[in-house]
Amino acid sequence: MLLIGSHVSFDQKEQLIKSVREASSYGANTFMFYTGAPQNTRRANLDSTLTKTAITEMEKNGIIFEQVIVHAPYIVNLANRKEEDKFAFSVNFLKQEIVRCHTLGCRYLVLHPGSHVGEGMDVGIQNIIDGLNLILDDDDSDVMILLETMAGKGTEVGSKLEELKKIIDGVLKTERIGVCLDTCHLNDAGYDLTKFDEFLKKFDSLIGLSRIHCVHVNDSKNVFGAKKDRHENIGFGTIGFSTLISIIYAKELENVPKILETPYVEGNPPYRQEIAMIKAKKFDENLQKDLQKISKK
Ligand code: FE
Ligand code: FE
Ligand code: ZN
Repeated sequence: MLLIGSHVSFDQKEQLIKSVREASSYGANTFMFYTGAPQNTRRANLDSTLTKTAITEMEKNGIIFEQVIVHAPYIVNLANRKEEDKFAFSVNFLKQEIVRCHTLGCRYLVLHPGSHVGEGMDVGIQNIIDGLNLILDDDDSDVMILLETMAGKGTEVGSKLEELKKIIDGVLKTERIGVCLDTCHLNDAGYDLTKFDEFLKKFDSLIGLSRIHCVHVNDSKNVFGAKKDRHENIGFGTIGFSTLISIIYAKELENVPKILETPYVEGNPPYRQEIAMIKAKKFDENLQKDLQKISKK
């Protein structure tokens, strides 16, 4: 079965209930959310009554809770340890984030590996390994950290599969580490998605396909190998609709949730229309224009 959803908001007051309603309005059967704003680390206390209601609503609306994904905020950076207090802050935040995931009942936490900010790739990788080991050391939950494949912007770690492999090999509780593919990032990092079969083979021999627990499906505003990271609506970018469809429906990734992180069009979320397009496997060239019209009404 196709598992498809998008990034949705998490309201500090209504919490997961708001996320579920948003995802349902898009026709999704999974979704991804941040436990607060993606760009900061302020987080509200979780209310178990709200979580219970949200789970009941998921069941009613055909959303598969086991496949719901949490994304860690962008600002935590395990790769840079020049300032020990900042590194310790990232480690501590992620420890608490895992507890939050566990409390909510979510199993997967997507994490950007980090940026080495001039310390060099090898140092960056070692810092991430040390950070992950500190985070997982005294945690016995089943929450998995999914390292996201990155575009290679600036000093980002994780735009090459070999870098992700080194990180995974260095983590002691390796069963707690998985991978989240991001199609825009892979394209911008220089992986040719028109040859996705070859990519999967390479991934399987280096890391193992069973580590993939999420795919971020985004088109790209940038040319192949640009190392830029700017997402585009499905079918409107340099990757294109048919390549994205073949990735979404790849049988090797059948049970892996596909999450859209494509841009809003003039303030309007594109996800209901994009999900409909993906389900129909038919590109709608008017999608962006139609969304622009909503704003003009
Ligand atoms: Fe991400
Ligand atoms: Fe992503
Ligand atoms: Zn991105």
